[in-house]
Amino acid sequence: MRKKIVAGNWKMNKTLMEANKLFDEISNNTFSNDVLVIISPPSIYLSQFAMVTKGIAIASQNVSQYNEGAYTGEISAKMLKEIGVDYCLVGHSERRSYFNEINTTLAEKINRLLENDIKVIFCCGESLNERETNRAEEVIELQLKESLFHISSKEIENVVIAYEPVWAIGTGLTATSEQAQDMHDFIRSLLKKYYNENISTRISILYGGSCKPSNAKDIFSKKDVDGGLIGGAALESNAFLEIIKSI
Ligand code: PEP
Repeated sequence: MRKKIVAGNWKMNKTLMEANKLFDEISNNTFSNDVLVIISPPSIYLSQFAMVTKGIAIASQNVSQYNEGAYTGEISAKMLKEIGVDYCLVGHSERRSYFNEINTTLAEKINRLLENDIKVIFCCGESLNERETNRAEEVIELQLKESLFHISSKEIENVVIAYEPVWAIGTGLTATSEQAQDMHDFIRSLLKKYYNENISTRISILYGGSCKPSNAKDIFSKKDVDGGLIGGAALESNAFLEIIKSI
């Protein structure tokens, strides 16, 4: 049985007061044992939320590819582990495009996280142009091959993959549930090709890209979609809670 997951990526939003309020509104609920809820707040709030998780897992939005040393502004995987962080996003399209993170850098980040026993939420996705020129699968395979598939079959058990078409992130455009299912099925076939059948059936694959209460049920109903990585709709407790209930 694969884990069902709904993860909220708050990005660089919420003041301290707003963040505490939103976290309380979410964590004051009890969730079905069938779903894992993850919250990924700005890093400055990680330690306080990691202390009072109440059944919610906490994810960092970023990690350094280096272990320690003279890397001003960076946060290491060891530091994240020490304060109780469970997961970390790697490969989000905003990090790829605004901060020039390339596949080989992402591979190093994944190495640091796994060495420090932090689970990875690896994001991959194609641009609109890549989809329109029928290169979506090729791009996804390259992203996975160059950043993720170097790890062992034991390590991949600590990874969740998030398929996030770049053209659907924060744009209001959503992949149809069929488009999501097709790509999730393709990603599962890659897990089989690079690892084995057993692994391909066990790794959770989330959809991300303008997922909201009105479309979550349809998207989550597809057999290879194991939940969602939610951006905008995770910033409002009622919307996020409704998405969790849709799983
Ligand atoms: C995201 O940033 O991972 C995301 C899916 O954002 P949104 O839901 O706002 O499209």
